[in-house]
This record gives sequence, C-alpha cells and structure tokens, in this order.
Amino acid sequence: MKGIEGTTAIVTGAGRGIGRDICLALAGSGADTAVLDVDVEGAAQTAGLVEEAGRGALALRCDVSDAEDVQRCVREVLEWREQVHILVNNAGITRDNLLLRMSGEEWERVLRINLTGTFNMTRAVAKHMFRKRSGRIVNIASVIGQMGNAGQSNYAASKAGIIGFTKSAAKELAPRGVTVNAIAPGFIDTPMTAVLPEEVQDQMRRMIPLGRFGSGGDVANVVLFLVSDLGSYVTGQVVNCDGGMVMAR
Ligand code: NAP
Repeated sequence: MKGIEGTTAIVTGAGRGIGRDICLALAGSGADTAVLDVDVEGAAQTAGLVEEAGRGALALRCDVSDAEDVQRCVREVLEWREQVHILVNNAGITRDNLLLRMSGEEWERVLRINLTGTFNMTRAVAKHMFRKRSGRIVNIASVIGQMGNAGQSNYAASKAGIIGFTKSAAKELAPRGVTVNAIAPGFIDTPMTAVLPEEVQDQMRRMIPLGRFGSGGDVANVVLFLVSDLGSYVTGQVVNCDGGMVMAR
C-alpha cells in the first residue's frame, strides 16, 4: 500500500493474535518490523514469518508496562534502523471479574499493561517522531471501551482511557506531522477470545450484524489504511472494526 514501502514499524504484543497479523500485513506492504512481546518465543516466531515474507524483522522481549524496558527497546530499534515511521500499540490483556469481586491487582494489572503501556511506548517513540516531524501511531482500543461490559470494568476503563489518550496525543502531535488514531475491534477470533465458553461466543455472534467474528487480518487492514498515504488526513479518530456491533447496540 502506498506510503508503507521502506518504512520501519514497531508493533507491541506481536507474538501472536492480532499483533502478529498486523506485522504480516505491514510486511506485505513493504515495512520492516520490530516485533515486541513479553513472550520472546512468540516474537521470534512472528519475526521469522516477517522474514519469510521478504522483509526485515527484529524480535525483542518487551514488557510495555515497564517504562525502562520500553526505553531500552526503542533504543535498540533505533540502533537497528535509523527511523521509526509507524507505532502500533497492540499489547493488551484481560483479567475479567465482576466489580464487587475484582481485586486491586486485577484492576491495576490491566490498567498498567493496556493503558500505561500505551502511554510508555507512545512517549518513547513520539519523542523521536516529533524530531523527524512525521509518524503514524495506531492504538488498539476495543468496542468494550465504548459500550462497557459486565465483568470487564478494568478492561473497559483501560480501553476508554486509550480513546481519550489517542485524541489528546493527536492534538499534541498534529503540528509535528504525526497522526494518532485508535481502532476499536469488536469480537476478533484470537487466542484471547478462544478461551471464552461456547455459549458466550454464541451470544456475542448474535450481537454482530455481519454475523461473524472478525479476524486479525480485518483489524490489520484498518491499520494499513491509517498508516498508508490513504490515511494521511485522518487523526484523532476511533475506527470501529466490529462487523457493526456498536452501531447495532
Ligand atoms: P492475544 O492473542 O492475547 O495477544 C496479546 C499479546 O500481547 C500476547 O502475545 C501477550 O503475551 C502480549 N502481552 C501481554 N502482556 C504484555 C506486555 N506487558 N508487554 C508486551 N506484550 C504483552 O490478544 P489479541 O486478541 O491478539 O489482542 C490484541 C489487542 O487487541 C489487545 O490490546 C486486545 O485488548 C485488543 N482487542 C482484542 C479483541 C479480540 O476480540 N481478540 C477485541 C478488541 C480488542 P502473553 O501471551 O505472554 O501474555
């Protein structure tokens, strides 16, 4: 896709699931990718697939909730390639529980990885993009941040936080030519959702006007649009990739 060929991207949580599909889609459009994950084996596997697709890849162990680890990884990426053009903040976890039963640890862990992780990585990379006066940042939020969901108050708060963060960062970085957008996926078929009981999956499917779960590739297609030349006048937006789920609620 125009504007992606020859760029360097960082994708977090890229050892499996949506993150891996985003790396492969970027590789298909000509980007080299730094594949970051706490699961270093998963990261190495994704990097291998990117290389098989004919593009450069660097697998790094990175815990996005640890600001020092994030700084170290960004330094390593900048030693590998001079410039980072694209950042996709995709790392995220769930620790579901009903509000009255939710522990402080379940609350804080989800906020620390999903929201603070997005802040840590954006701050580290935006500094560099700011100087270069160009860059594309895409944050993976969720429809749950827009709709809420019983049993996911921690996850919903983290994803709603990402949406507010995206709009603020977009306003701050626009004068320097950096766009910041969020994608709100609906129900995407990945290891994160595969663990849900069959009846919950059926219930979710009935809420989707297009009648099917999305794939990581569906989300990756929206990333490609936002980071390519086609998306150059789009910033501060939340793009739903949910088969119509939020529209129909
Ligand atoms: P996934 O299959 O669980 O993959 C997430 C990856 O992130 C895993 O490899 C995980 O490693 C890694 N990770 C966890 N904590 C991390 C940390 N502190 N630092 C760096 N990496 C970390 O999830 P997914 O379904 O692909 O979801 C990707 C993103 O899309 C998440 O932000 C999720 O909230 C969002 N999303 C997903 C759906 C969906 O239906 N799947 C819907 C809406 C939004 P470990 O496995 O070792 O923990």
